[in-house]
Amino acid sequence: MTSQRTRQRLIERLMDQGVTNHQVLDVIGDTPRHIFLDEALSHRAYEDTALPIGFGQTLSQPYIVARMTEVLLGAAGSVDKVLEVGTGSGYQTSILAQLVGQVYSVERIKPLQDKARERLRQIGLRNVQLRHADGGFGWPEMGPFNAILSTAAPRDVPPELLQQLAPNGVLVIPVGGNTQELRLIIREGDSDNFMTQVLEPVKFVPLLSGTTR
Ligand code: SAH
Repeated sequence: MTSQRTRQRLIERLMDQGVTNHQVLDVIGDTPRHIFLDEALSHRAYEDTALPIGFGQTLSQPYIVARMTEVLLGAAGSVDKVLEVGTGSGYQTSILAQLVGQVYSVERIKPLQDKARERLRQIGLRNVQLRHADGGFGWPEMGPFNAILSTAAPRDVPPELLQQLAPNGVLVIPVGGNTQELRLIIREGDSDNFMTQVLEPVKFVPLLSGTTR
């Protein structure tokens, strides 16, 4: 299940779907996705599908992880500091951590955060800081960020996330309810003007407010 061939097939599938960034493809090919899942599901880790991680949440489909990461890297001038909203299993966090300077990741469900912390430690990623909080407010103490990636969908873009973008910073975020679209939002220089590009229809869990223990 974790064989090189299985992972290679996943990479080929991602390329067929239009993912072109080789750094992103290499990191996905090298990262053990099965450790981010409960054992009963780990045999499905290299399928290109979203999988449950408990608490009604899901680990995103590899295609969407690849796509969002590729968009973020392509649009951001620098990626010293990146904020992720919705740590979940920690899989997307681990992909980002191998491609950017420092990752800050916020999760509202404490047991998911605890598991993610253990997994990130297990694979030896040290440039990640986790916080148990409502990520709809970003992480103001650590901002501004060169890029912000949200893996949960708000109805509307939270203004706090826009405010925490550094000059020319980029926000990659799914937005909507039953129908959602993936948006790329770029801060124009150090102004309060933002350029929005709609990328594709997506289906993410909702961004919820507050936290749970
Ligand atoms: N990046 C994750 C995807 C998990 S699904 C992964 O690779 O596994 C999205 C996650 O966002 C869920 O864990 C959910 O609890 C979390 N979430 C939803 N609303 C949130 C909020 N307001 N603040 C922080 N996390 C939130």
